Amino acid sequence: MPAENPPRTFHVKSFGCQMNVYDGERMAELLAAQGMTATDERDGADLVVLNTCHIREKATEKVYSDIGRLRRADGSTPLIAVAGCVAQAEGEEIMARAPSVKVVVGPQAYHRLPEMVADAAAGKRGTETDMPAEAKFAALPKRRRSGPSAFLTVQEGCDKFCTYCVVPYTRGAEISRPFADLVEEAKLLVAGGAREITLLGQNVNAWTGQDAKGRAIGLDGLIRVLAAEPDLARIRYTTSHPNDMSDGLIAAHGEIDKLMPFLHLPVQAGNDRVLKAMNRSHTVESYLKILDRVRAARPDIALSGDFIVGFPGETEAEFQDTLDLVGAVRHAQAFSFKYSPRPGTPAATMDDQIAPAVMDERLKRLQAALARDATAFNQASVGRRCQVLVERRGRLAGQWLGKSPWLQSVHFTGDVAIGDLVTVDLVQAGPNSLAGQLVA
Ligand code: SAM
Ligand code: SF4
Repeated sequence: MPAENPPRTFHVKSFGCQMNVYDGERMAELLAAQGMTATDERDGADLVVLNTCHIREKATEKVYSDIGRLRRADGSTPLIAVAGCVAQAEGEEIMARAPSVKVVVGPQAYHRLPEMVADAAAGKRGTETDMPAEAKFAALPKRRRSGPSAFLTVQEGCDKFCTYCVVPYTRGAEISRPFADLVEEAKLLVAGGAREITLLGQNVNAWTGQDAKGRAIGLDGLIRVLAAEPDLARIRYTTSHPNDMSDGLIAAHGEIDKLMPFLHLPVQAGNDRVLKAMNRSHTVESYLKILDRVRAARPDIALSGDFIVGFPGETEAEFQDTLDLVGAVRHAQAFSFKYSPRPGTPAATMDDQIAPAVMDERLKRLQAALARDATAFNQASVGRRCQVLVERRGRLAGQWLGKSPWLQSVHFTGDVAIGDLVTVDLVQAGPNSLAGQLVA
């Protein structure tokens, strides 16, 4: 496509967390509202948006290689826009190094994408990395259609400044979206087909707002209001910080049927010295106490977490403490990462950076322990009868895929449709999914 022609088709590719997936959906809605058509294949698209992630590893190099791969056989490129956290952190450098990139737009400024694309098509490259998030949400089009399981960002940014993490710099300060806007967006998602909504935030449980009567409420209050939506069957939230697990939110797990029995509560490490160096502001003991209270409120809760191995200075004994914590909690699932120095964060310049081979070896041991516990959790589910939300067709003929209340993938056959909530007996377990039998 010559750069002067306005793009007619677009492809948005999102990397990283669920908040990026949400942002990618909103960007697609913005572009569609301008009359552009989404394509599944980036090869034929006039405009490609790379919605990037900066949280770990060689994020920036990955963006450059993706940009390179967009070059067509005849040497031309689509109009390329780089969005997301790499755009925020390294926008100017991207513009300087990659002439084929015409638009750089940060996570709090993507409501400006359509006008920037129009400028770019007219030959004017642009960078926009402003931070105030309220302007963005107010400028987005209203939600229309939704799959059975929808994301809804309620909170953005982070004030916690864990010493390894780039999020406070790329996403900015913590802000909570207003209650009325969230209720409206949730209703639109439900009207558009959503049966389940996952409330999203970098620290989703730090959300605060005022309800319709002007009373101060937290995330549990918002969940209670959304639970009153008749056609909304399930509510989830992620990601939470241990320090923001309020009494009300813990109690909500025992009181609100639509709040699914699943909690993703990252701990990062199982040793108090390491947690302090990470600036996590919780201890191993305070974390375990929260889990005890959540389990008391909702005994069948499935627990998930995030772990980092090889934080600067982590000794073998301190890593062993992480394995001990894993052994004590028995997570239903968890994410684990090698520590990755992020430019500009305090940990990146700490002494005693751990050798990559040591990190590899620790990650292997941790992942073996987490896989053992995930398999055990799934095996213990065999024999349970539960509701499954049908999300899509499986790979085999007649097969369907959906999610149990505990966020397990369940496959089964039968006469159902996407968006149905069906009763299924869990009959067989693997490490990543379960086989179910539809109850007639
Ligand atoms: N706000 C959430 C919390 O505090 O747990 C997590 C948000 S962060 C986007 C997701 C996960 O990425 C973190 O929980 C952490 O395990 C991981 N992470 C963040 N920075 C990292 C780094 N520099 N190296 C490795 N993993 C990192
Ligand atoms: Fe990053 Fe820590 Fe904030 Fe989570 S709480 S987003 S890990 S700084």
